[in-house]
Amino acid sequence: MTNEDIMNWLTRTADVLQEKRSYLTELDSAIGDADHGINMDRGFSAVREKFPAMTSQDIAAKLKTVGTTLVSTVGGASGPLYGTAYLRAGSVAAGKQELSSADVIAMLEAFLGGVIARGKAQVGEKTMIDALTPALTAAKQALSEGATLAEITSRAAAAAEEGAKATIPLVATKGRASYLGERSAGHQDPGATSSWLILRSLAEACEG
Ligand code: ADP
Ligand code: MG
Ligand code: MG
Repeated sequence: MTNEDIMNWLTRTADVLQEKRSYLTELDSAIGDADHGINMDRGFSAVREKFPAMTSQDIAAKLKTVGTTLVSTVGGASGPLYGTAYLRAGSVAAGKQELSSADVIAMLEAFLGGVIARGKAQVGEKTMIDALTPALTAAKQALSEGATLAEITSRAAAAAEEGAKATIPLVATKGRASYLGERSAGHQDPGATSSWLILRSLAEACEG
């Protein structure tokens, strides 16, 4: 994955989060406070405004810019959670001009690790973790089978989509949705859904 591919990933992410703004907000209106799409679009619109300044940055610096921008512009849980994820992903890329398949998987692992470190959620609590964890497992499996980076990331995105859908019956025990208790069951988690969209954008960028 080149610096240009990373830029492509971030552009696609900003585009899809803008496009799915209403959908993500609708999901959050069922079990939260109806702002997840607004939060994500606000954050990535601020990232988009930094694209010109980011052209000269290497991969690590770009990802760190995304992280700090999300932390400073997104009110709500998702800002610090995704902010930490991108900051940690950036650390993995330090000094690298290009990312190998193994590097991309290490980046995903750091991304997930950032969300866990910040939010202390475990699998099954109806959060972003429920999309990111199966995605990482699928990516590792694909790498071990000798898959190309395009296949690895597309299998990760497919697993994230399944993971997001599998949050529907879950009862939330972290974040705002946990205030609803049992009534949070029957709705897809907004954060798991945005995590899937972020990984789908990654897969599209790796397809070239
Ligand atoms: P807020 O809940 O503050 O309004 P958002 O609506 O932007 O923030 O984000 C809500 C999403 O954040 C949830 O759908 C869930 O996936 C995720 N989330 C909340 N708390 C945690 C946590 N502790 N760990 C991981 N993800 C979390
Ligand atoms: Mg919300
Ligand atoms: Mg909120």
